[in-house]
Amino acid sequence: MRISMVSEHASPLAALGGVDAGGQNVHVAELSLALARRGHDVTVYTRRDDPALPERVRTHPGLEVVHIDAGPARAVSKDLLLPYMGALADGIVADWGQEVPDVVHGHFWMSGLAALDAARQAGRAGTPVRVVQTFHALGTVKRRHQGAEDTSPPERLALEARVGRSADHVVATCSDEVLELAAMGVPGSRVSIAPCGVDLDLFSPHGPVQERGRAHRIVSVGRLVPRKGMDLAIRALAHLDRDDVELVIVGGAGNSAGLQDDPEAQRLLALAAELGVADRVILRGQVSRAQMPAVLRSADAVVCAPWYEPFGIVPLEAMACGVPVIAAAVGGLLDTVVDGATGLHAQPQDPAAIATAIAAVLADPARARELGENGYQRVLARYSWDRIAADTERAYLAVLGAGSSPAGSSTPAIPPTSAAAQRSVARPLESTGGRVL
Ligand code: UDP
Repeated sequence: MRISMVSEHASPLAALGGVDAGGQNVHVAELSLALARRGHDVTVYTRRDDPALPERVRTHPGLEVVHIDAGPARAVSKDLLLPYMGALADGIVADWGQEVPDVVHGHFWMSGLAALDAARQAGRAGTPVRVVQTFHALGTVKRRHQGAEDTSPPERLALEARVGRSADHVVATCSDEVLELAAMGVPGSRVSIAPCGVDLDLFSPHGPVQERGRAHRIVSVGRLVPRKGMDLAIRALAHLDRDDVELVIVGGAGNSAGLQDDPEAQRLLALAAELGVADRVILRGQVSRAQMPAVLRSADAVVCAPWYEPFGIVPLEAMACGVPVIAAAVGGLLDTVVDGATGLHAQPQDPAAIATAIAAVLADPARARELGENGYQRVLARYSWDRIAADTERAYLAVLGAGSSPAGSSTPAIPPTSAAAQRSVARPLESTGGRVL
């Protein structure tokens, strides 16, 4: 199969940990690679955010990343990218030329707009292309949790719903998302679930373990944005009131020295000082993929305390390393972390509940080992990228066999996203001040 992936802001080649570089980058990179391993011909289209990037990068046999000129060739907050989706679609269509793919798979709502636009252009030229969509995150959920703090473009909710209703198929990453999609009017018959996966060669229980500074260590990993709840982990540490436990927070746009310019990092450090735990909270900054397993293995437990979570790859990475996960009972974490079996659930936004769960893990090393072992078995059985790629391939085959009018040739349910049309819907948006969530 010829497969085009569209991932406007999240390049598979980007460094991770910055405000806009996390799970989607990993998902697109690993899914594309696993599909290429299955013999498919995969091209990932992403926005050029640096003039020095080559136009095409062949990363593996059967897998190529193509940088499309769409907007300024520098890092731009994803909340400001909507005006450039027309240019992205035009660039994709130009790259397709006469050789259109069988399927174009949009990642995130704006990529969905570009994918539908590109498919529609190809359809008009007589070569229909099926459109599959994965949202990764939904504007409705973000708005519910962040209210006025949500810096998404005002058009997001309406356009996102239209993308969901116009795509031939939507691949949700967790059961909770299926309910949200239904509420947006996406017919259940066109939705399936394929979760995110984990690289089981990189993340495993055996290998180097980073040295601890105290007898016990809790680790939290994620983009440094408020909704990831790193502050809740700090509050939980204060509740715990044990000076033999340290909390290592991983994430941010650079190394620990670079965090001086990161407002969220400074907020977390100020909170730790205010709560009297500054000596036990370590902000590591960005950690590379290669080093991440050693950091996870060094933990007694990995705490994931987001306000909401569309999927959450970090818990899978921790489970793959054989480490118990303490997870807020939200979104994708309800599917991945089995309460009492692979980790412990805590009520969302409840530092005391997180502290109780940490205390329980620390108090019973045999149970902690069992939770870790169960987590490892669970990811082995369910979350290899090969398995996720097979699930996704089934969705592609279903739409290719469906036979109804493809999204590219049907009456457009979304407005055209040609560059000119987009200019008319675009409006200047405020700078996000580093609080993009
Ligand atoms: N990550 C990383 N280095 C960092 C911070 C994060 O490699 O410094 C990775 C992390 O290991 C995981 C991804 O970024 O693979 C975050 O994905 P997740 O789904 O947990 O969160 P999202 O970014 O999608 O909100």
